[in-house]
Amino acid sequence: MDSSNSKPHVALLSSPGIGHLIPVLELRKRLVANHGFHVTVFSVTTTTAPPPKPKTATTTTTLDLVDIFELHVDISGLVNPNAPFVERVGVTMRESLPILRQAISGMDPRPTTLVVDIFGTDAMKIADEFDMSKYVFITTSAWVFAFCVFVPTLDEEVEGEYVDLQEPVKIPGCNPVRVEDLVDPMLDRRSQQYFEFLRTCKGYLSFDGVLVNTWEDLERPTLKAFRENGILKQVLKAPIYPIGPLVKRVGSSGSRSELLDWLDLQPCQSVLYVSFGSAGTVSAKQITELAWGLELSQQRFIWVLRPPMEKGGPHDLNDCDDVANYLPDGFLSRTHKLGLVVPTWAPQEEILGHRSVGGFLSHGGWNSSLESILSGVPMIMWPLYAEQKMNAAMVVEELEVGVRVVQLSEVVEREEIAKFVRMVIEGREGKAMRTRVKELQCSGERALIENGSSYESMCELARDFEMKLKY
Ligand code: UDP
Repeated sequence: MDSSNSKPHVALLSSPGIGHLIPVLELRKRLVANHGFHVTVFSVTTTTAPPPKPKTATTTTTLDLVDIFELHVDISGLVNPNAPFVERVGVTMRESLPILRQAISGMDPRPTTLVVDIFGTDAMKIADEFDMSKYVFITTSAWVFAFCVFVPTLDEEVEGEYVDLQEPVKIPGCNPVRVEDLVDPMLDRRSQQYFEFLRTCKGYLSFDGVLVNTWEDLERPTLKAFRENGILKQVLKAPIYPIGPLVKRVGSSGSRSELLDWLDLQPCQSVLYVSFGSAGTVSAKQITELAWGLELSQQRFIWVLRPPMEKGGPHDLNDCDDVANYLPDGFLSRTHKLGLVVPTWAPQEEILGHRSVGGFLSHGGWNSSLESILSGVPMIMWPLYAEQKMNAAMVVEELEVGVRVVQLSEVVEREEIAKFVRMVIEGREGKAMRTRVKELQCSGERALIENGSSYESMCELARDFEMKLKY
């Protein structure tokens, strides 16, 4: 085979959850459009985390799901459906290995490179079996990744529970992590999810390279800490490629939601968008307080509402009657001129990109945070799980483009919510944050265009893929 004119065939592996699949699909777009690579996407799904279903105009997911190989794994007999996410996803990804192996072995030509996402580290042995080069795509910040890379060291050095530490956790060359912002699996060192998490973190150290959904100007000191000859560099020897921000862009849905028609009628930067990501839920009591908080604030809103967590997870809501079941009596009629409540799903990138949107109340998933920054929209961070508390700390304290809701009791009270909403939409603080977030928006856009830092990083990665072509 003449290697001079052959392009790498890249296999991308996405773990369950739409928040993992979205950046993987964006990565595919770039590899195909800018580098002419042949890309195959494998998306692992499970019985407990079904893929999104296309629905009506307002609830249709806006993903390009063409040419994706679904690797469906049934883990219902293997793990308690109520087990923490990290535990379930660990089992799911391990169970998916035989079908991934089978799928790759049946391909002709076979992929030459495997890129897995944050939970796909077990698949590196399949890359080794088929003599493929292997990379991991970190779909969160470089700071969270630095923390993960350092977890095996912490595991050796820290005695007792992390939650009992008196000081923030220090990561060499990076901002420390407050104990109360630690990721969920760190809260109990004897739990199964901690073992899964530790194993995953150790796995990151064995790849040929690491792609991160961030960019130089956003996280310069952290990226420097990976490159300079400090402890992080000694732990992680592989090169790091900041290739972001890879987010869904306005216009990618191909159809226009009626939510945008409503937004067209609202004043500029006057609407708060409220959404807790693809799976975030809060309690019934909290939904009530949030509804009252929005009403008290008297600001315009679009609220993507899911059933309360007592209902057992992010089920679909299909019509307005269902929405009303979870809201205070009369809320919809009292607020019908102020806002819209959308069941389950909304075209987030289109909403954030609309000129009428002036704030985003978010659970602080990394995709949502990046989408808000790239739309120049300041945030109210309301972290729920995973690494979202670290994302909130970064967005609020380091980037200064958001405020943070702190839950001190069973619920965040309505007055507190109303205060934050007013602050971001019409307050001086909101104005200052909007100026800063627009600067970050420009910096993120600059990173992606020709000669930008992420564009160049992607070219370097592409050259690396080509050099590592194995025959
Ligand atoms: N999303 C969306 N509409 C919704 C909810 C979520 O388009 O109603 C998209 C959102 O734009 C983002 C992703 O789902 O790209 C959620 O990813 P994120 O990392 O923010 O949170 P996760 O769902 O993984 O917790």
